[in-house]
Amino acid sequence: MEVLRAALRSPSRVAILIPGAQPIRYQQLLAQAGGLAKEILELTKASQAPVGPNTGPRVALLAPPGRDYVEGMWATWLADGISVPLCLTHPPKDLAYVMEDAQTSLVLATPELAKKVQPLLTSSPTALHILNDPGNSSPASVHFSSSSCSSISRSSSGNDQAEAALARSEAKDGALIIYTSGTTGKPKGVLHTHGSLAAQIHGMQQAWGWREEDTILHTLPLHHIHGIVNALLCAHASAASIEFLPSFSPTRVWESLQREEDPVSIFMGVPTMYTYLLSQYKDKMGPEEQQRACDAASRLRLTISGSGACPVSLMKQWKAISGQTLLERYGMTEAGMILSNPLEGERRPGSVGTPMPGVQVCSVPVESSSEHEDRPQGEIRVKGSNLFREYWNRPEATAAEFDEKGWFKTGDTGCCEGDPAYWRILGRTSVDIINSAGYKISALGIEDVLLQHGGVGEVAVVGLKDETLGEKVAAIIAPAEGKQVTKEQVLAHSRELLPSYQVPRTVVLVDAIPRNAMGKVNKKQLVKDLV
Ligand code: ATP
Ligand code: MG
Repeated sequence: MEVLRAALRSPSRVAILIPGAQPIRYQQLLAQAGGLAKEILELTKASQAPVGPNTGPRVALLAPPGRDYVEGMWATWLADGISVPLCLTHPPKDLAYVMEDAQTSLVLATPELAKKVQPLLTSSPTALHILNDPGNSSPASVHFSSSSCSSISRSSSGNDQAEAALARSEAKDGALIIYTSGTTGKPKGVLHTHGSLAAQIHGMQQAWGWREEDTILHTLPLHHIHGIVNALLCAHASAASIEFLPSFSPTRVWESLQREEDPVSIFMGVPTMYTYLLSQYKDKMGPEEQQRACDAASRLRLTISGSGACPVSLMKQWKAISGQTLLERYGMTEAGMILSNPLEGERRPGSVGTPMPGVQVCSVPVESSSEHEDRPQGEIRVKGSNLFREYWNRPEATAAEFDEKGWFKTGDTGCCEGDPAYWRILGRTSVDIINSAGYKISALGIEDVLLQHGGVGEVAVVGLKDETLGEKVAAIIAPAEGKQVTKEQVLAHSRELLPSYQVPRTVVLVDAIPRNAMGKVNKKQLVKDLV
């Protein structure tokens, strides 16, 4: 709802910037969403009764980053529905899983993508509404609904609908079901309310200084919290502008960053994206181009990294070319952003800073089985109005993730250290904390060290069952592009920089490490494939 508020407040500001074409303004999106909302109401009228209190019809959304996507989400909210963004690159069976799991009654899809879902709907209660191609961005353009083949008049301004929706909506009403990245198992549908989204957005506006004059270059997938809430909703709730790329491409990112007219001020990415940007810079640019890239990167107001640990070596390389320290933050689908390095003040590489405004964080010590621990550590737990309402249709799973005092259990281990005290993420309690001969070892810490070797491109450290040690440290390594690395070199590097109990007992060399859409490694799967 924060985005609708911003659209009413700043109707003539640019919401979507399209280099070389007419920009799209907030009032245009609102007018179009208003028309679409009427269609949604019509199409979901006959759907089964909503499940649970404060729960509207679920409307799946399958559209590329851009105008159709934004209008689809706003229209769903204007119609009191819950938006369920789908992944563009998922195969049909994964799309079917999400639509079934979320019990969607309608899917909004652009013509090309509609072809992908259509075959799935023959035996399903979900109706399809085809959104028009966003090619024409003039204010007078009309989108057509193929199911009804009716045109929607822009004169049915969305203003009244937005005002009415804002007046009747309550903080506890469902707004979005976002599926987790599926790094540790099947993706879970996380239900956020208008209240939890507003709390997250206000926290990020305060922490990162979002303002109307900002332009974000948006290259993240729009079915995960990072792309949807941090990048899309925060920008639009601040009446800022977004330039969308259809997907991440280092060449296209460098091109956009170099634009002098309507310059980009914010870039957000997962660590792998920064790795690709740096390789492009190092391996594919001549000296003049490199200079232009450095100038462009140093003009940015803010560069943020998250969704996975950002290696310290990567931070150093980014700083060398941009002059700025990446702002690393930590969060998850269920809670939004939890911890962040500051906008002003020290950004400490390898750490994720302090709690976001309005978020309470504590750690609960993992039962110590040895005296060898070199620092206190524990599972990170969270409280605050930023938290999700429930895992969709999984009451037991929801209950299991909260402790008796109402704290949400993140499943990540961290420690708070230094002066001022900043949090450091040691990894997922279930896979990244390796228990070897009684030592609790953070896989992320070892990965960071291994990545400092010039020949190492990617690394995943896991614990493998071992009769003597309980678990032994294993490193799966892919060489850096155009480089070679041997097991002996990896081991020599490890012995030099790591205490002996952390030196990998097993090193496996591979061409590339498999990653999901968010650039994350499913370590459980990796271990299964290894043994
Ligand atoms: P699933 O819950 O399906 O296994 P997932 O946990 O990867 O998938 P997300 O909610 O997208 O799904 O990701 C949140 C997780 O990402 C966190 O729990 C944490 O493990 C990791 N993470 C996010 N930011 C950071 C960071 N800065 N450093 C280390 N880990 C991070
Ligand atoms: Mg998770």
